[in-house]
Amino acid sequence: MTTAPPADAFLLFGASGDLARKKLFPALYELTVEGRVDMPVVGIARSEWSDDDLRDRARESVRDRVDNVDEAALGRLCSRLRYLSGDYTEQSTWGRVAELTEGAQVPVSFLAIPPFLFDDVVEGMASVGMTERGRVVVEKPFGRDLATAKELNATLHKHLDEAQIFRIDHFLGKEPVQNLMVYRFANSMLEPVWNRNHVASVSILMSEAFGVDGRGAFYDEVGAIRDVVQNHLLQMVALMAMEPPASKDPAAMRDEKVKVFKAMKPLDPARVVRGQVNGYLDEDGVAEGSDTETFAAMTIEIDSWRWAGVPFHIRAGKSMAQTITEAVVEFKQPPSMLFADEDTCPAPNVLRFRMKPDDNITMTMQAKVPGLEMVSRAIDMTVDYEEQLGGDGPDAYERLIADALVGDERLFARQDGVEEAWRIVEPMLAPRNPVLPYAAGTWGPDEADAVAPLPSGLVTRC
Ligand code: NDP
Repeated sequence: MTTAPPADAFLLFGASGDLARKKLFPALYELTVEGRVDMPVVGIARSEWSDDDLRDRARESVRDRVDNVDEAALGRLCSRLRYLSGDYTEQSTWGRVAELTEGAQVPVSFLAIPPFLFDDVVEGMASVGMTERGRVVVEKPFGRDLATAKELNATLHKHLDEAQIFRIDHFLGKEPVQNLMVYRFANSMLEPVWNRNHVASVSILMSEAFGVDGRGAFYDEVGAIRDVVQNHLLQMVALMAMEPPASKDPAAMRDEKVKVFKAMKPLDPARVVRGQVNGYLDEDGVAEGSDTETFAAMTIEIDSWRWAGVPFHIRAGKSMAQTITEAVVEFKQPPSMLFADEDTCPAPNVLRFRMKPDDNITMTMQAKVPGLEMVSRAIDMTVDYEEQLGGDGPDAYERLIADALVGDERLFARQDGVEEAWRIVEPMLAPRNPVLPYAAGTWGPDEADAVAPLPSGLVTRC
């Protein structure tokens, strides 16, 4: 799969921060249980901590978030932890980083830090020769628009090759998202119908029944399009629409996703609805009169032989009726409705990949209604992934750190894909359509139905 050399040191920049506490220590612990982290782990941040302080933080983080902790494994992880207190903007820090990682041939550096520090960190790493080897994992956001994404990439590329850069979109590390690829490319029966001849529409829904949850100041700078559409949901469109990769080579899969983006025109404002939930302006941290969207709906077209003319609908929002993430493929109706009458619903065939709250796949088909009449109605055939296969798989960060350690790039975003995705959403960043109000607990403004109808199953179309 990958011929990259395995990591022999893990450097955690931002070791005292929130992401490290919430996600990275639990992931490192799980990987230690599995025997995948057996190298030194060096935490680097400004706080004046000792090695033992970092170990205390790691223990607390793991015990708070993991059930039935394997204390021996946690002890092994802690024994590998070292801490270095230093400011990334000071050259003296880098001499000490080099000392602590001396001899490491393939250091993997996780930058769990604000993006404005990337420049200092990459320069600091270069100054002690660390960019000549190893890999660097960076966290989203990858810019705020196309121009800032390009700047960020230029900063990283000053001293790193693209092959050394692992951009985390943690959504791609989730099992059900990876499963989309497996359903599509491990099953030959889908391929003949997976195109404009048979598919009427594809809908991607990411609705959250909760609001900004006290993160008003963060969210107000971002909004739904930057927060989830540009990254997670366009990635989902790409997974649904891409051609089969030519090989298992990680580059082959990323090439196919980028081809999908290249076949998309920038968003047409006439086919986008932005919404703002009533009460958002009263949230702490939200600017007075803010026009940040908490909801976005849109139609995207993919100008390719496979998909031309098939609308891809995206609908995403906060404070909505239910928390659901799913991709729904609606097939065309048969040319003649032999078994429909005025009392029955000629619902189309639907394939629903539900990722949240349950992880399942449903096929909606027509079946005969028992009785003397020859009429049909829709029935759902649902298979629960966990029930069939057991277990709910690793956390996204566990998965992605494991991949970065062995150099498997498949689930990481590539520069060209990130920049293409910004190009697509750019018309909606500024100037943009006004936000339409909607009530909490609904599916968003009614006007959204014209650009992204709710998928079959959530609404009945007859
Ligand atoms: P925090 O602000 O909690 O942590 C920032 C870290 O960077 C701290 O360890 C801090 O050290 C360190 N730091 C900041 N400035 C310096 C400096 N000049 N020199 C040395 N260390 C420095 O951020 P988060 O953990 O929340 O986020 C990190 C990144 O991950 C961000 O890009 C964020 O967007 C992204 N992210 C975060 C998520 C989350 O859930 N938190 C989710 C998804 C992405 P100290 O505190 O010791 O000064």
